[in-house]
Amino acid sequence: MSHQIWMNGELVNHEDAKVHVLTHALHYGTSVFEGVRAYETPDGGSAVFRHQDHVDRLFRSAALYHMEIPFSKDEIRQATFDTITASGLKSCYIRPLVFRGAGPMGLYPLDCPVDVIIAVWAWGAYLGDEGKVNGVRARVSSWRRISADALIPTAKAGGQYLNSILAKIEADKAGYEEAILLDSNGYVCEGTGENLFLVKGGVVHTPGFANDILEGINRAAAIDILRDQGYEVIERNIARGELYRADEIFMTGTAAELTPIREVDDLPVGDGTRGPITTEIQAIFEDALHGRSERYADWLDKVPAA
Ligand code: PMP
Repeated sequence: MSHQIWMNGELVNHEDAKVHVLTHALHYGTSVFEGVRAYETPDGGSAVFRHQDHVDRLFRSAALYHMEIPFSKDEIRQATFDTITASGLKSCYIRPLVFRGAGPMGLYPLDCPVDVIIAVWAWGAYLGDEGKVNGVRARVSSWRRISADALIPTAKAGGQYLNSILAKIEADKAGYEEAILLDSNGYVCEGTGENLFLVKGGVVHTPGFANDILEGINRAAAIDILRDQGYEVIERNIARGELYRADEIFMTGTAAELTPIREVDDLPVGDGTRGPITTEIQAIFEDALHGRSERYADWLDKVPAA
């Protein structure tokens, strides 16, 4: 966990990557960030999965909160490579964070500096490797997903995650591994850090942007794979009750990768094990992540050899 951190243009030692207590983002959640992963490839190198998509979303999130990132997209991409290389890790989780730094307090943030860090660390699947095989137990949260009336669901912004955090704590205290949040209209939305897919009768359904989802990059990848495999994927409003009669449910996210849901609200999904379509798509997805897929090779951005 003690790898060097890229901070505002240079790599600094882990223990020196500090901020002031009057950092604006600490008080008001004025930050945007990404969760990205790099994987070791069969040639012994390392590659970042859908790197450009993550950099683009970081800049989009920043713009939505009126933050101008003082680096170009290419500089952020290169800084990510430098941080990975300095860490010596081949497979890692990557956390770029853009935040309002120390400056005038108060709710008008535009006079505070915009600081940028990139950190990397080794991190296994968020819902566990065992969960990827056997599925996890989820519960519909009493917390609704933030709505576009109040915040910006398509932005990946720090303060917005208090919503996910409430749902995660509630699920954990009740003995579940993950929460499923409904949107403000009561339709199925997503997990605390994952998008959701439901299989019924061989057709795949997933909430759409009107359901206030985060536009997941792994969601897009899963949709591409599903369609390439010949499955119909429908983005639509999904009622809570449909969760209880689904044949299969799975979630996608950078941290969780592709994880099946085996139970919702104490009811088994299908026969309570990872279903056949989930298994098929997960295998292709894993191959794509780890550089074993020719078809999806252009989803990987190779870390240049040092
Ligand atoms: N929804 C939320 C709320 C998330 O935090 C994430 C993780 N970034 C996702 C969905 C999945 O997005 P991605 O596939 O881009 O990681």
